[in-house]
Amino acid sequence: MQNKNRIKRLVKNNCACYFGAKYGIPNYCCLQDGPCVFFAQDDDLPHCIYFEKGVLPIDEKLEREYTSERNVESEFKTAQPRVNCPKCRATFSANSNRQKYCEKCRDKNANEKSKLRMRQMRKSRLDVTL
Ligand SMILES: [Zn+2]
Repeated sequence: MQNKNRIKRLVKNNCACYFGAKYGIPNYCCLQDGPCVFFAQDDDLPHCIYFEKGVLPIDEKLEREYTSERNVESEFKTAQPRVNCPKCRATFSANSNRQKYCEKCRDKNANEKSKLRMRQMRKSRLDVTL
């Protein structure tokens, strides 16, 4: 990963678990109780939940590169279309481009539809039997 140096800089400057040299350990991390995983010599990208949730979001650009490299599910990968609910006119981010109503109206809408369907069914049944 070519951004590892930028990650290291971000950790150095912003990670609350990073202590620099402590107890004779360089790049000491209090979560690891050892060296920070990002300062290891190998080339792969290590995992650190604390970093991903608490530090990485500071640098939006780096976060995007990091998540795409890692194939992490993220809001950047699946762009959610902004949709206006035709019912309540609220703007919400849809999970797919087929979603039309907001979460609240979706349930209400399904309810109304089934009510209508039921009514129609009862009516047609009456027509047949009587
Ligand atoms: Zn709505």
